[in-house]
Amino acid sequence: MDINDKSELNRKYFLDGDTYNCPFCNRHSIVYSIRDSFSFDWSKNKAVYGYIVMCHGCNGISLHLSYHPLNSDKFTLSFEFRDKDGKLAHHKPEADNLDKYFFYHQPDSFFTLDERIPKIIRELVSEADGCRRMNWLVGASGALRKATYKFLQEQGSTGNSYEEQIKWLKTKHSLVASEYFDALSNIQGMTSEELHEDKDWEPWTREEFDFLVATVKAVLHEVYVVPDERKSMLAKVLYLGPEKKNSQTSQKA
Ligand SMILES: [Zn+2]
Repeated sequence: MDINDKSELNRKYFLDGDTYNCPFCNRHSIVYSIRDSFSFDWSKNKAVYGYIVMCHGCNGISLHLSYHPLNSDKFTLSFEFRDKDGKLAHHKPEADNLDKYFFYHQPDSFFTLDERIPKIIRELVSEADGCRRMNWLVGASGALRKATYKFLQEQGSTGNSYEEQIKWLKTKHSLVASEYFDALSNIQGMTSEELHEDKDWEPWTREEFDFLVATVKAVLHEVYVVPDERKSMLAKVLYLGPEKKNSQTSQKA
């Protein structure tokens, strides 16, 4: 339960009036501040409010759009707006649910994927994240499935069925926890339903999508990032070894 609560926090952009998950340095619960704000007419009778936010960890600057005239000192402070009858009203945002007041963020993905993961896969996962944030679950599911297929392709997987390909991948990456691949198999379970049945299909629920996207990200990290980091750690350790030092000294002499 505790872990779930934490991952729920990690999926948020704004955690409260002071901290957020930075999309640039990927640090969680880091302090941010609102640097600037502006408004413009989205259409003839719809105004949009923009906020420029800065991370106190890396100085990265992001853009956030809202349909609400949020307080530009702090998002959690109450703001003034005109109600349906044109009367001035006040609203105090829910401090622990600030994301719901925004409809657009740039950078879009607060969980920026490591650059060692192939670009095409990163883009699809980021698109899935973006759709999810707008609550477009059909688009989110589609992009995530596509990302998974690209991943299999990029890995040069063999096997006729999706399940066989995942099994092959599981053998190839024997150091990665097998539970991840079992979870990936489930993605196809839902996909085939959609592809092979004409009847209405249930799009993934938010919870299902959140679980699957977290799984895909974890697998990508395990496959593309972890081995590389292990290698460079090993290189560093070997460099510190006594033999290496001796040979360097003898070379100098
Ligand atoms: Zn940052």
